[in-house]
Amino acid sequence: MRSFNFDVITLFPKAFELINNLGVITRALDKNLIDVNLYDLREYGEGTYRQVDDKPYGGGAGMVLKPEPIYKAYESIRKSPNSKTLLMTPQGKVLKQKDLARWSTLDQIILICGQYEGFDERIRCLADEEISIGDYVLSGGEIPAMSIINGLTRLLPGTLGDPDSLINESHNSSLLEYPQFTRPQVFRNMKVPDVLISGNHKEIELWRAEQMSKRTLKRRKDLIKSQFYLPIDEDDDNNWFWDL
Ligand code: SAH
Repeated sequence: MRSFNFDVITLFPKAFELINNLGVITRALDKNLIDVNLYDLREYGEGTYRQVDDKPYGGGAGMVLKPEPIYKAYESIRKSPNSKTLLMTPQGKVLKQKDLARWSTLDQIILICGQYEGFDERIRCLADEEISIGDYVLSGGEIPAMSIINGLTRLLPGTLGDPDSLINESHNSSLLEYPQFTRPQVFRNMKVPDVLISGNHKEIELWRAEQMSKRTLKRRKDLIKSQFYLPIDEDDDNNWFWDL
């Protein structure tokens, strides 16, 4: 089987050593389900000092990544016809589970990580999509890129021990997952719900379905709203939805 290729352009390739030690991802690497190729931006830098950044035109704080090294690194990557290039930026579309699922049918993702104050605007032309991992600003695109590698790898066939784990989990549907318990039955006076030890599979299924709705309604009404276009009033805390 072909492996899924992640090609990452970064000033900090060492940061990616972390993904080699993350359970499921380690297994995927060992089984050659994925390949992570790192392109050290410094090697594509200019002049004796391998310069990769410069001051912004027009003035302002900090340094900006220059276009030439990133274009050079990008052009050195062998591209498959079934590939996408993602630019990490807090100005991008916020990453959702459905994006990971959509990309999992590709066979290559090229990830471009920014640093410092960001990158020259002309770098945007390389990207098929601009992705943010949330409405906050990190110092570099490495953690966002690792989030994508991690989230996408666990969707690839053969990666998870039990592929059924993907079915009910949070953000797969519009609902969050139900509460999970393992042994012991009683821990510091907190007891596992009776239904889960009843052995009655129908009841367990019903309980879990109910918990998924309740939990999502309580924590993330916005998920239900965006999925079903329900006229939910943000301030209305009564439980009408559970009675349906
Ligand atoms: N000044 C820029 C932010 C620079 S942060 C701005 O206001 O848009 C430096 C780099 O970190 C970015 O180029 C990007 O690659 C990465 N980064 C920071 N926060 C991110 C986020 N939430 N999602 C994705 N990438 C992010």
